[in-house]
Amino acid sequence: MAYEIRTFGDPVLKAEASAVTEINGKIARLVDDMFETLYESDSGIALAAPQIGVQKQIVVWDLDDAPMAIINPVVIESDGEFVYTEGCLSLPDLFVEILRPNHVLVRGLDIDGNEVEIEGSELMGRVLQHEIDHLHGVLMFDRMTPDQRKAAMAEYRKLQETTAAKPQRRRLRLL
Ligand code: ZN
Repeated sequence: MAYEIRTFGDPVLKAEASAVTEINGKIARLVDDMFETLYESDSGIALAAPQIGVQKQIVVWDLDDAPMAIINPVVIESDGEFVYTEGCLSLPDLFVEILRPNHVLVRGLDIDGNEVEIEGSELMGRVLQHEIDHLHGVLMFDRMTPDQRKAAMAEYRKLQETTAAKPQRRRLRLL
């Protein structure tokens, strides 16, 4: 079952998600539903459970037809710098160039409960950082410089007010 994607202003996006304590059939079904929601979305490539209103530490992504899920993920190492124009399924139509570490090493559990480490640079590194942020109530706005945040907030408000057709800027790779 596909869920509705929560957007900015919904308090669930600012809340801390709980660690998953038992990986059971319910969690497996939730992961399936997260993928279904992701595939039904417009250009989404990754999704965190809070984005569908579920306060659990679960992230899914699908880059190059390789669906992956990680439970209770934690960034254990990060280095380098990488600027990427980020877009978020929960902030429709907003795209902002954001500087973050390039490479991260993440530890968590797979869907069978095995400990796994996942490493990523560039887009993959960005997906992991952006989605893990969602588990802690952190949005793109919180990763911007104060000037960027001010401009992006104003632009986002304007985008949501206008009923006119939205500019089809890179509607690709929403996180
Ligand atoms: Zn997002």
